[in-house]
Amino acid sequence: MIDLHVHSVYSDGTNTPEELVRMAEERGLAAIALTDHDTVGGIVPLLDAAAGSSVEAVTGIELSAECDRGTMHILGYFIDHTCEKLLEKINIVREGREERNVEILKKLNKLGYVLTWSDVVQEAGADVVGRPHFAAALVKRRHVKTRKAAFDLLLAKGRPAYVERYRYTACECIDLIRQAGGISVLAHPATIYMPDDQLKGLVKGLARNGLGGIEAYYAEHHPENMARFSEWAQELGLICTGGTDFHGGNTPDLRLGSGFGQLHVPDEALEQLKAAKARI
Ligand code: AMP
Ligand code: FE
Ligand code: FE
Ligand code: ZN
Repeated sequence: MIDLHVHSVYSDGTNTPEELVRMAEERGLAAIALTDHDTVGGIVPLLDAAAGSSVEAVTGIELSAECDRGTMHILGYFIDHTCEKLLEKINIVREGREERNVEILKKLNKLGYVLTWSDVVQEAGADVVGRPHFAAALVKRRHVKTRKAAFDLLLAKGRPAYVERYRYTACECIDLIRQAGGISVLAHPATIYMPDDQLKGLVKGLARNGLGGIEAYYAEHHPENMARFSEWAQELGLICTGGTDFHGGNTPDLRLGSGFGQLHVPDEALEQLKAAKARI
């Protein structure tokens, strides 16, 4: 079993990279990829922890792309986490995040929710601060019962405390990952929320622009989605990858590797990513 989509405390997960390696080992996983949002901060601790273990560690990142529909994320695998260009470009995104976070807090306060920056930062782990941390802080302050309610009521796109942040286009994300020596993969395509024919057209366009794979195996994908995305991958010459999108305590029903119990990412996915990396 392998899991190619995992978050740590460096973004919105609740486990350290060291804990993730230990958990993967306990669960008998052969490999995990750390794919924190907009940061490579967890990569060195991950590699260090994996060095003395039975788990193969894959360097990764998850970038958010501009999208006028739902949510579009691009994963980068086998990136060089020391690549200057990558660090420079993700810094720009992070500055945009910081500006956005200030605006979210202002909006929440204006809406009458008592919340301070320190409440939010306390929920964040080591590095990137994002909406899940606002959600956790809102729960702690008893403004809402659950994190999901915080998103549904306030933080999700179209809700009153939502604020846009700077994102690269999908093609820019793909280029950036390529510059860092990585293979790009379209994450959880179902969250783009597009009719099938349009979505397929979009994937085709991205494939022409250097996309290497598509995350067909995903804990929250319906089996028919997995089948459909695998078919597209085959047709378009893309690698089929997969993972759970594990966020630790932030996704309490989901298990590393197996998701809600049904997920099985074939080891072949990693072999194909490696082969693509070797061809760069
Ligand atoms: P950010 O990058 O700070 O805008 O936060 C995005 C993250 O928030 C995603 O990766 C998810 O973990 C989480 N998220 C986004 N939308 C929702 C939602 N509707 N319900 C629960 N979590 C969400
Ligand atoms: Fe996340
Ligand atoms: Fe994602
Ligand atoms: Zn993710």
